Amino acid sequence: MTVVAYVGLGSNLQDPTAQLARAVMELARLPETTLQAQSPFYASRPVGPQDQPDFVNGAVALSTKLPALQLLDHLQAIEQAHGRERKQHWGPRTLDLDLLLYGQEAITHERLTVPHAELPNRDFVLQPLLDLAPELALPDGRRIDQLRTQCPDNHLRKLPPLMQRD
Ligand code: ATP
Ligand code: CA
Ligand code: CA
Repeated sequence: MTVVAYVGLGSNLQDPTAQLARAVMELARLPETTLQAQSPFYASRPVGPQDQPDFVNGAVALSTKLPALQLLDHLQAIEQAHGRERKQHWGPRTLDLDLLLYGQEAITHERLTVPHAELPNRDFVLQPLLDLAPELALPDGRRIDQLRTQCPDNHLRKLPPLMQRD
């Protein structure tokens, strides 16, 4: 079975834009997976600890035959290859890859909650999803465009399309 999965990307260390650009290429090369579309990149203020650099965020749509947990394994392997260190909850990181949506499945597993639990509260996730799929909704029927109008403001700034840098 092939599903469309949406993956959120974030970085605020060691040239965040380059981290994201490289990660998109790595996602495109995953087995049994094709890259369907890539959102613009955005700068956003951090959630949680404020004493860290702004983030660069984006999202991609993947068409994949990988089961959700295998896809998560690959996402975590890519994070590791980017030198991700887990020190502080919601702290600075070279690369964060979150599985936002996996088709219209709702998944509750000790390693994986889909849709991503914080998705409705994050403009830096909702806006790239809207860019990719304006009609998108969660498995429970809530529309992404509706959630976007209600979520807190993280001071989102779209980065220039050619350079994708601020
Ligand atoms: P947040 O989840 O609030 O965005 P975070 O991205 O900083 O925070 P991480 O430290 O990257 O959190 O991940 C913690 C754990 O979350 C991972 O070990 C993973 O097993 C689990 N997890 C649960 N659901 C998901 C998901 N949808 N995508 C990625 N990881 C998930
Ligand atoms: Ca995250
Ligand atoms: Ca994560």
